[in-house]
Amino acid sequence: MKWPLALLAPLFGGCFLLPPAERENGTVLLGVRIHYVMTSAAAFDFCPADRVGCSVPLGSVCFVQIDRAYFEKGTPWQKVNVVAHEVGHCLNLRRLGLSSGGFHDEGKRWGRYYADPSEGFAEAYARTYIRRCGLDLDSLGWMNRRGSCALPDPKSVTPTSVESLGL
Ligand SMILES: [Zn+2]
Repeated sequence: MKWPLALLAPLFGGCFLLPPAERENGTVLLGVRIHYVMTSAAAFDFCPADRVGCSVPLGSVCFVQIDRAYFEKGTPWQKVNVVAHEVGHCLNLRRLGLSSGGFHDEGKRWGRYYADPSEGFAEAYARTYIRRCGLDLDSLGWMNRRGSCALPDPKSVTPTSVESLGL
């Protein structure tokens, strides 16, 4: 979804169109620039506060907001899952044109929330990532780290692939 820049500018200050600086928590994954922000869900912009993660496209950057309390208390699986899930939303937008990998309601296998096509795809992406890369935050570029695992091609994540991997 697109947001008017006039609305967004005051929220992110004057530099929100610049790519993340070296010291910031950002990365480029599969050609998509991602900026991670740890915040509180109550302070999420554009997402309801009952979520634990939220991705917002801004210019060429995909801003991924993660709820700090959830992340800090989370299990290693929960931490990687929430970050990879939000990355899945960014890749769906930038690499799949929001086609959601052909998901309809197949994501409901993981809960009602994931019956929505974009949520189904994002969760499928996260679980496919964990299957391939394990509980590796570094390969998601978290905290500017670099890992050695190659991310799954978003085009390869489909209802059929989820079924065949038994995710
Ligand atoms: Zn989601």
